[in-house]
Amino acid sequence: MIARRPADLQVESSHQGGTKHPLRRVCRDGDELLGRLGLAAEDLAADPFPAFALRVPDAFIARMRPGDAADPLLRQVLPTLAERLAVPGFVDDPLAEASANRVPGLMHKFAGRVLLIVTGHCPIHCRYCFRRHFAHAANRPSREGWAQAFDYIRRDDSVTEVILSGGDPLSVSDRQLQWLIGQIEAIPHVRRLRIHSRLPVVVPDRLGPGLVGLLAASRLQTSLVIHANHPRELDDSVAEALSLLRREGIVLLNQAVLLAGVNDRVEVLAELSERLFAIGVLPYYLHLLDRVAGAAHFAVPDERAILLQQALLTRLPGYLVPRFVREIAQAPSKVPILASTASTGR
Ligand SMILES: *Cc1c(COP(=O)(O)O)cnc(C)c1O
Ligand code: SF4
Repeated sequence: MIARRPADLQVESSHQGGTKHPLRRVCRDGDELLGRLGLAAEDLAADPFPAFALRVPDAFIARMRPGDAADPLLRQVLPTLAERLAVPGFVDDPLAEASANRVPGLMHKFAGRVLLIVTGHCPIHCRYCFRRHFAHAANRPSREGWAQAFDYIRRDDSVTEVILSGGDPLSVSDRQLQWLIGQIEAIPHVRRLRIHSRLPVVVPDRLGPGLVGLLAASRLQTSLVIHANHPRELDDSVAEALSLLRREGIVLLNQAVLLAGVNDRVEVLAELSERLFAIGVLPYYLHLLDRVAGAAHFAVPDERAILLQQALLTRLPGYLVPRFVREIAQAPSKVPILASTASTGR
């Protein structure tokens, strides 16, 4: 469990009732989702009562193909009965994160960088999420709880980068982010800020002038790691939103998860890289699935991952091949899954 964090910051108001931009509306009902796509629950073995609730914004649904039961975007969010299967080796807390949680809301696993769990809230529920067994409900904001995390960073001058993660850190309001970034900027040895967020892909209009302005104004060298698994997620609305950040010199990277039935074909991965580059984003990591209970049907065997990596290397320039990695509890970095050099015969 990620368990302890200092109470969530307030989630952006437009995600909680009030007047919402139409595309920020969120669908929480499987029948409604399938109805809108002209599909039947039986054909997809959809689970009407999933343990991890369905949650998907309209802006993401808009990119799904009506009538396509194998749609790669739909597969990422639709609860299915396969999730109920207990599969040996797939557990609730595959990364044993509880032990890396030194102070509430802060994880310091790797040298030089710490990760802050800004909120447990997420605008979308990905079925393969390794945090699917954590509570995702948003609490009331508490700034005092964060003081301990900032003290921790202040006391350790080897920490030069702070990563905002979650849940989705961009689901909190601009005001909350501004406060958080201000606290981080006040620590002189921190030079870099990194944001890990799926929102730029899922609800691109979250990247409004307010957010872009506050990132642009920071003294910290800032990067944004988005999360897209399939090229069809990256439509023009995403490209436009990201161009605002690029203009401000913010470095854009992508992390994806290798998912059976979604992106485990070389054509799809190559197209994802090409599309990312076309919109100014470099592929960073391709994560092998964390072995979380309920997600076994998305797992791709290591041997197949290695073959995919070799195939990508022969097709794309090196900078468009993401690093294939796996998280291993206690390892000092993400662990690379390396293409075999033996088979090239040199
Ligand atoms: C993934 C992760 C990071 C970031 O790792 P990079 O290799 O720098 O991208 C940092 N801290 C924690 C706890 C992580 O899980
Ligand atoms: S966006 Fe990330 S944190 Fe949120 S549900 Fe998906 S994988 Fe989990």
